[in-house]
Amino acid sequence: MESLLEFSSAQPFPESSFPHSHPAAPLSVLFDRHIICEPSLGTDGARLMHIDGVFGMKRSPLSEVKGNVELKTPQVKGASRLPLPGSRLKRGPDQMEGALEPAKKRTRTALKPVTSRPRAAPLSTVPQPQGQAAARQVIRKTGARCPTAVSTVSRNQKPGPAVPAQKPGTSAAPPMVGGKKPGKRPAWDLKGQLCDLNAELKRCREKTQTLDQENRQLRDQLREAQQQATALGTERSALEGELARVRAQAEQGQQELGTLSARVLELEGRLGTQEGLVRELQREQLELQEERRGLAARLEEQERRLQASEAALSKSQAEAASLQQETAAQAALLSERGDRLHGLEMERRRLHNQLQELKGNIRVFCRVRPVLAGEPTPSPGFLLFPHGPGGPGDPPTRLSLSRSDDRRGTLSGAPAPPTRHDFSFDRVFPPGSGQDEVFEEIAMLVQSALDGYPVCIFAYGQTGSGKTFTMEGGPGGGPQLEGLIPRALRHLFSVAQEMSGQGWTYSFVASYVEIYNESVRDLLATGTRKGQAGECEIRRAGPGSEELTVTNARYVPVSCEKEVEALLHLARQNRAVARTAQNERSSRSHSVFQLQISGEHAARGLQCGAPLNLVDLAGSERLDPGLALGPGERDRLRETQAINSSLSTLGLVIMALSNKEPHVPYRNSKLTYLLQNSLGGSAKMLMFVNVSPLEENVSESLNSLRFASKVNQCVIGTAQANKK
Ligand code: ADP
Ligand code: MG
Repeated sequence: MESLLEFSSAQPFPESSFPHSHPAAPLSVLFDRHIICEPSLGTDGARLMHIDGVFGMKRSPLSEVKGNVELKTPQVKGASRLPLPGSRLKRGPDQMEGALEPAKKRTRTALKPVTSRPRAAPLSTVPQPQGQAAARQVIRKTGARCPTAVSTVSRNQKPGPAVPAQKPGTSAAPPMVGGKKPGKRPAWDLKGQLCDLNAELKRCREKTQTLDQENRQLRDQLREAQQQATALGTERSALEGELARVRAQAEQGQQELGTLSARVLELEGRLGTQEGLVRELQREQLELQEERRGLAARLEEQERRLQASEAALSKSQAEAASLQQETAAQAALLSERGDRLHGLEMERRRLHNQLQELKGNIRVFCRVRPVLAGEPTPSPGFLLFPHGPGGPGDPPTRLSLSRSDDRRGTLSGAPAPPTRHDFSFDRVFPPGSGQDEVFEEIAMLVQSALDGYPVCIFAYGQTGSGKTFTMEGGPGGGPQLEGLIPRALRHLFSVAQEMSGQGWTYSFVASYVEIYNESVRDLLATGTRKGQAGECEIRRAGPGSEELTVTNARYVPVSCEKEVEALLHLARQNRAVARTAQNERSSRSHSVFQLQISGEHAARGLQCGAPLNLVDLAGSERLDPGLALGPGERDRLRETQAINSSLSTLGLVIMALSNKEPHVPYRNSKLTYLLQNSLGGSAKMLMFVNVSPLEENVSESLNSLRFASKVNQCVIGTAQANKK
């Protein structure tokens, strides 16, 4: 079936435009330009061709040859406008050109015998050039080189000649003579017929050779086509592989696209988050900018203040420099004044000591206690306190005691007049004298202790005369009744505080012991050692040292009144533990409160130290030798003897010191042994002689007053401060 198709070269052939009978034909092989299939001549530029089916080329070359051969007769017989079978439509113009080349050759070959056959009718050869020229003209005009087309065109253009233009030799008719068809040989012309047959045979042979040659060429073309098909198959496989690869790539691309889409979604999500973050950051940026503006304003304010402060600072620095100069000057002045002050302090100490010496290194104060409630009032004039030479305003220094002796009588039998005993001391305190008044007199001695002079203050007298009251204070511990010990320590702390302004640093260590029957006991003992006696011994602090210490006794650093009060309270408790029903032991023992004072002036490298001793002596009363001694009295006698011995030793020591005797019997009693560093030499001693105001105690009062008078008469050599 034939079909006519026209395709534009501007667009590829749609695959659906071809018949289904040739689905596998590659269009690119078939056409690459305009193809107009029309059974007649086309317009200029068009190619005229007959299509035996669209893919008539599928016919084998052999069949094509066959077709060509079979077409000979019809071609000769008459022109036909039908398309020639075997037209090659697979090729484009160029390919067609090549494909048609053998046909052209065939045409030429077919023409050759005509032109070269010498025995052919001359007339039959005449039209050949015209036919050939016409055929070539047609071929040039149409671009088709099909011999059949040539023959057709030749017939159309030159219908006149009877001899076929293409293959005159192939015609069975006798050669034409003069443009007329040759007639049939007569039957008799066997030779002619034989000759014709031979010629025919020869042509057939030549034709056969030509056909063989063409066949070979066609086989070559077939092989070439097969090779092309193989190449095309290979190319197709490659293209299919390429297609598969491209599809794989497409799938991969799809996957990547999916991945990228997911990635895009994720990135979009992140972008949203980032945008939110950016908005947040922008908001924070705005806030920070606002804050920055605020800070800038504050900074500006601060800078302004700083400038003002710097100005003030520079002014202050100038003032400071000025003040430093002034301070330096003041410091120099202060140093100078410090030196002067120190000199004055030293002078004060010297003068103070001189004053004390003038007053006497041993001074005796007499104190008469008041009559207590329930006690008999002494007769008027029993005790008299005559005023001093300065008149009533002078503090009393004398005491007059009247004693009536019933055993003495006058010759007339009338009672003898009372005997007056006058005593003179450094100071006499009548019964109405207060504790503060008493302390004023000894405050100077406390100052001497701070200045580095040992000080020893005794309270001497019979039991009940007011020794403990004077030393520790009255019952209840009211401020007005405070004794010498708390007052002295308070004074010491106060003066030490004042002296710290001059560079002096003081420390105080207290101890409190009692000496009973020549045994030493610690009144500050605590815990299991309370109430135990005989464990303490007086020892030197070290080999070669003159400082004495009591073994197993507590030495307590004190720095304030409350600590001292606590110590005195503890001492009273310890005395109460040792008290018995028969014996008021505190009255039968010496209580020694020692305060070691240490002072240091670090700047000047000065040190001073001295003990302050406040001694509440045992009762000085003596047993009446005429009294019969009971069983309990013997202990009392032994106590009394011990007390008397120690008090006598104290007197003897004072006398020895006063007389500057080479031997001072310190060791004769524990009391003097313990106090040896505070007696004599540079030491200052003050003895209170406490006297009962009662007439019944007149004898003991006289004894006490006499003892005190002896002490008062002693003058111990010039005291030297213990300066290191
Ligand atoms: P001593 O210690 O010498 O044995 P005390 O000090 O115990 O004597 O005194 C005996 C009593 O006398 C105590 O009750 C005491 O309060 C009282 N007393 C002593 N001296 C005075 C005084 N100056 N003023 C008031 N009462 C005193
Ligand atoms: Mg007492």
